[in-house]
Amino acid sequence: MDFNTYIRDITDFPKEGIVFKDITPLLKDAKALKEVTNALFELIGNQRIDKVVGMESRGFFFAPLLASKLEAGFVPVRKAGKLPYKTISEVYTLEYGEDVLEMHEDAIAKGERILIHDDVLATGGTAKAVCKLVEKMGGEIVQCNFLIELGFLNGRGKLQGYEVKSLLQY
Ligand code: AMP
Repeated sequence: MDFNTYIRDITDFPKEGIVFKDITPLLKDAKALKEVTNALFELIGNQRIDKVVGMESRGFFFAPLLASKLEAGFVPVRKAGKLPYKTISEVYTLEYGEDVLEMHEDAIAKGERILIHDDVLATGGTAKAVCKLVEKMGGEIVQCNFLIELGFLNGRGKLQGYEVKSLLQY
């Protein structure tokens, strides 16, 4: 199955100059959803995973599906102020200015093996901040896993030292 045909380019969204990768056509098709979840799962191989960490908001589509297949738990990373319990946070740089990501302070136990998942790897700033949160809690990052990698933005460069896997490259 060619998953590329289920990904829609939306130009100038959410702002001018960005070509947004809209994955909702992939999500709404029962067969494509099942097959793409299996393909993301295969990127992990036989590695044992204790928790899958997914970032708000589009990381939430596949991270729990992968966690379920891996028989692992799911941990959400959210923007500041969204999580109800005590959190740890990481400030990261955006194209203009800064933003904050948070995780519950009891989400990961020391030594747990972690898979990080997001839909798109762009500049890598978000994924790098999530790696820092996981490592602050003593988690061991097994793989950073993405549906789509925008190679021209070299997010991989920011994630040196980690195993980075993506299903579709642009
Ligand atoms: P990054 O620049 O790697 O920190 O990406 C920031 C976040 O925005 C990630 O969670 C991506 O899912 C999302 N993102 C960045 N660029 C795009 C794009 N062109 N299409 C869809 N999502 C994007």
